[in-house]
Amino acid sequence: MKRETILVVDDTVVNLDILVNLLRDYDVVEAVNGEEALEIVGQEQVDLVLLDIMMPGMDGYTVCRKMKENDQTRGIPIIFITARSDENAIEKAYDCGGVDYVTKPFKPRELLARVKIQLEHQKLIAQLEFLAARDSMTGIYNRRKFFELAKQKFSENPENLYAAMLDIDEFKKINDRYGHPSGDRVIKAVTGAISGIIDEDSVFGRLGGEEFAIICHYDNQEFVVNKLESIRKEVEQLEVMSEKGELIKFTISEGVAKVDGTIRNLDELLQCADEMLYKAKGAGRNKTIFRI
Ligand code: GH3
Ligand code: MG
Ligand code: MG
Repeated sequence: MKRETILVVDDTVVNLDILVNLLRDYDVVEAVNGEEALEIVGQEQVDLVLLDIMMPGMDGYTVCRKMKENDQTRGIPIIFITARSDENAIEKAYDCGGVDYVTKPFKPRELLARVKIQLEHQKLIAQLEFLAARDSMTGIYNRRKFFELAKQKFSENPENLYAAMLDIDEFKKINDRYGHPSGDRVIKAVTGAISGIIDEDSVFGRLGGEEFAIICHYDNQEFVVNKLESIRKEVEQLEVMSEKGELIKFTISEGVAKVDGTIRNLDELLQCADEMLYKAKGAGRNKTIFRI
C-alpha cells in the first residue's frame, strides 16, 4: 500500500528531526519556513501538514490561509504544532482553517493518534468524493460532475474546445431482445471502449441512460475527427455476450461541435453537438456528424 506523505514545517531543525523520527511509518517531507512549505504543497502530493506557527518570515497562520485560498491545496488537512498555548492562538488556528492543534512539547503517541485520525478522515473524504462524482454502473463521471468539469474547461479556455454527444443506436431494441441486464453490459462495453481511446485531459461522462458526452481541447480539428471516428469504429467492432450466451452487436451515433463566435456557453455548445447527433440519427445512425 502506498504510504501517506506528511509535510512537517518548523524553523527549528531539532524539532524537525524529532518529528521525522516519530513519523517513520510515513513518507515525510520537511520545510524550514512558510515559503518553502507553500512551494512543496504546490508541487508534491501531500496528504497532511504539521505546521509550526511562529517562524521568521511567513508565519504558520499565513501558510494555512494561503493553502485554504488555493483550490489545489484547500483539501489538505493542517495540524498546528506550536509552543503557543494561549486561547487566542488556538482560536485563530481553527479560524484560518486548521483541523487540529497540538502544543509543544507534545506527547508523541497522542500526536501519532491525531495524525492517524486525520489521514483516515482524508481517505473517507476521497472515497465519498469519488462516489459522488461517478456513475455507479460504468465508473465514468456522472452528469453532475461532467457539467462541473466541463463548465470549468469552458471558462478556463473556450478556444479550440469541442463537445461530442454520443448515443447508442436503437438501444431499446437491445433491451427488448436480450433483456435489461444484457443492455447494461452493452453500456459498460461502450464506456470502456471510449475511456480507452480518449486522452486523459478529456472530460467524459454519462449524461443519462445510453447517452454520453465528451469535452476536449485540441488544436487540430482533423485530430478530433479521427478520434471520434476511431471511437465509432471501435464500438462497431465490439461484441458483448448476452446473459443467455448470444453475441450482441451494436453501434453508436456521434454529434460534434466546436466553440465558435456564435457559442457563448457550455449549454449552447452541447446543444449544437446534440443537434448534430440528431442529424446522425436521421442519416441512418452509426455516423459521426461535425458542425461546420
Ligand atoms: P436511438 O437510436 O434513436 O437512440 O434509439 P434508442 O432506442 O437507443 O433510444 P431511446 O431513447 O428510444 O431508448 C433508450 C432506452 O435506453 C430506453 C431505456 O429503457 C434504456 N435505458 C436507459 N438507461 C438504461 C440503463 O441503465 N440500462 C439499460 N439496460 N437500459 C437503459
Ligand atoms: Mg518556530
Ligand atoms: Mg439511443
